[in-house]
Amino acid sequence: MQSWDDDRGVLLKAQQELRHMYNFLKKMMKSGSSMMNFQKARDRMVETQLVARGIQDPRVLEAMRKVPRHMFVDEALKDQAYNDHPIPIGDKQTISQPYIVALMTETLKLQGNEKVLEIGTGSGYQAAILAELAARVFSIERFPNLAYRANQTLQKLGYKNVIVRVADGTLGWPDEAPFDAIMVTAGAPKIPQPLTDQLAMGGRLVAPVGDRLSQELFLAERVPEGVRKTNLGGVRFVDLVGKWGWQE
Ligand code: SAH
Repeated sequence: MQSWDDDRGVLLKAQQELRHMYNFLKKMMKSGSSMMNFQKARDRMVETQLVARGIQDPRVLEAMRKVPRHMFVDEALKDQAYNDHPIPIGDKQTISQPYIVALMTETLKLQGNEKVLEIGTGSGYQAAILAELAARVFSIERFPNLAYRANQTLQKLGYKNVIVRVADGTLGWPDEAPFDAIMVTAGAPKIPQPLTDQLAMGGRLVAPVGDRLSQELFLAERVPEGVRKTNLGGVRFVDLVGKWGWQE
């Protein structure tokens, strides 16, 4: 015969299981709704910050709608991830404002089959956007801890076509050259020579060039006559530090 104690034990266990189930469901609903909120924030970002300012490439807009920018910033800054400004990522570095990411990406005119080089991995966000739009992305970061974290985030999100390397990116990535497109996401006194050398014929490079406080965004295209440069307007980036950039 069952004792009162046995019944009580069964009841307690059932109660415990129900509580676990309740907590699990609560957690799922919370993460589901925050995922929906982040998607809404991204859609709004694309309309108000990108489309409104003239970004048109549908593939770029789609990538910006898709890549979860909040996953590339610290927990405490997630709520700001879709705001119209850069965000600190540690080591005095920042992840660029969404509009600048979109503008630089659109400038490369990617079709999907390119091999792309990025200098300044930072959080890995820009690398993820490039990975959505090109075949392969090679990204170089000088700070090992940033490179490590960026790589972790990119892996977690399932990007298999990005390789992150710790090195002085002003030297490019000679073993993998030539590249169809190159993006420099830190400000340099001039476009590093090794990078234009590693640009394929017809390839496009985008880089902020100027002094340490402000720069102009330049498009450099490799054409049969040499390198054709176009000034795309004023920007502010952190320093490109290296052999062909600024000294520490
Ligand atoms: N693209 C990044 C943001 C770049 S911030 C993102 O999406 O988050 C600029 C980055 O360039 C910083 O992380 C900085 O450490 C890196 N950097 C500066 N000089 C560099 C160099 N010579 N080689 C590689 N990375 C460099």
